[in-house]
Amino acid sequence: MADPRRRIPRTDVLLADPRLAAAAQRLGAPLVKAAVTAAQDKARAGELDAARVADHVAATLPPTASALRPVLNATGVLVHTNLGRAPLSAAALDAVFAAGGTTDVEFDLATGRRARRGRGALAALADAVPDAEAVHVVNNNAAALLLCALTLAQGKEIVLSRGELVEIGDGFRIPDLLAATGARLREVGTTNRTSFADYAAAVGPATGFVLKVHPSNFLVAGFTSAVGVADLAALDVPVVADIGSGLLAPDPLLRDEPDATTLLRAGAALVTASGDKLLGGPQAGLLLGRHDLVEALRRHPTARALRVDKLTLAALEATLRGPAPPVLVALHAGPGEVRARAARLAEELTGLGIDATVADSVAVVGGGGAPGVELPSAAVSLPRAYAARLRAADPPVVGRVEHDRCLLDLRTVAPADDRVVRDAVARCTS
Ligand SMILES: *Cc1c(COP(=O)(O)O)cnc(C)c1O
Repeated sequence: MADPRRRIPRTDVLLADPRLAAAAQRLGAPLVKAAVTAAQDKARAGELDAARVADHVAATLPPTASALRPVLNATGVLVHTNLGRAPLSAAALDAVFAAGGTTDVEFDLATGRRARRGRGALAALADAVPDAEAVHVVNNNAAALLLCALTLAQGKEIVLSRGELVEIGDGFRIPDLLAATGARLREVGTTNRTSFADYAAAVGPATGFVLKVHPSNFLVAGFTSAVGVADLAALDVPVVADIGSGLLAPDPLLRDEPDATTLLRAGAALVTASGDKLLGGPQAGLLLGRHDLVEALRRHPTARALRVDKLTLAALEATLRGPAPPVLVALHAGPGEVRARAARLAEELTGLGIDATVADSVAVVGGGGAPGVELPSAAVSLPRAYAARLRAADPPVVGRVEHDRCLLDLRTVAPADDRVVRDAVARCTS
């Protein structure tokens, strides 16, 4: 019998296949060549028919030149940090696409002169929060806090409660970030209780600002007390409030979640927030508040190192001006509506002979905010083995395992994607 390796097509022959040549134009030659080499190796190992090498490469090439893949979030965690936090709205994606080439991000087409960078996004943010005298946008909320500390507390003290020394996740601790700027942290009160007198005793000529940090990923219950922004505003120093989630105005569903408008009205000098949590936009750090302070932040030499790029500005503006982004749609979906979708999906899957049932579920906002808030939801419940199979599907679907079942929580799935979930489950049933 002839050596089967003989029949494996040569690299140059494979790369000349019209499908692979077109893919090389789109993805770059190295990526296609690597896929060709991998397929040839498979054929040599006897795992792939030599006659099908070109077909195999064409069918398995990645859709883009980035290894990042679109994933369906069926975890029931609305803002899932490991899955890229907020998914952008269609309006934001369109804006990113349009701004991706050369664009007038810093250019006035009417006069032909330089214009203020990101003016569209800044105007949209200012319009969304009329109580802010001025606004600025940086890379993320951590960068916003960094800029506050560098600008307002160099060689000075930041006064904050021991109950608000927060770790956000992945080892990121807000007090460490602040201390790294050279500002001194002046901790007041205790883990569970801090009073106005604690703050008043610590505030003096050395104070840069008082910082309020929203405990966005934990709850303290029992014998507790904290001082609100309205009371702290009576002290003669700026109060900076890190609200975390990015709610710009109160949300009736999230009563305990602070929002920018309320805190500015209460007297916060500055509010900082993330763009990719409950705002539902791109990663960004929002700064809103007093005009003189925002100007000082903008002019600080490090501001340049923290600035956002045109894609972020485009997505942020479209998120603020456009239709409600997916995170807010998911947050406000009626429980009956989610349950009806789960029932329909389970019925379709059962019709295909799959062990699928409807299960009550509880969705959460996630590390991005609103700790303790439980959102009634519904899931399609499948045998546990589906969890791994669905992660390997195309597109991957990420659910969660509970009581030895794989739950696909539909609150975090866009209704238009129910079909995609059904097809993925059907395909990985064999
Ligand atoms: C998430 C969060 C941060 C960090 O925000 P990034 O945008 O991820 O840098 C800071 N403070 C609070 C209270 C948060 O919830």
